[in-house]
Amino acid sequence: MSVSGGSGAKICRRCLLNELNEDEYFRSLKEYIAAYPEDKRCSGEEYERRLKVCQSCDRLTNGMCAVCGCYVELRALKIKADCPEGNKWER
Ligand code: SF4
Repeated sequence: MSVSGGSGAKICRRCLLNELNEDEYFRSLKEYIAAYPEDKRCSGEEYERRLKVCQSCDRLTNGMCAVCGCYVELRALKIKADCPEGNKWER
């Protein structure tokens, strides 16, 4: 089921990953991150700090956390999110 997103890009609410063009999928993911509500986002400083922790973690593969299966750039964005492996994001 394809519909137009806010940016005019087509998004599919029922497609699975294997049904999507890889470029479209990653563009859609980046648009989702960019449009994530401000009141649910952690600060930019905290976001960058969390991503640095992920970048030095051996569980990160192709932008995805091997523990939870999330794209870390999305998971780290959320105020209430934590790292699923002993909360490595704790200060
Ligand atoms: S969320 Fe935690 S376990 Fe996953 S890649 Fe980041 S630091 Fe590693």
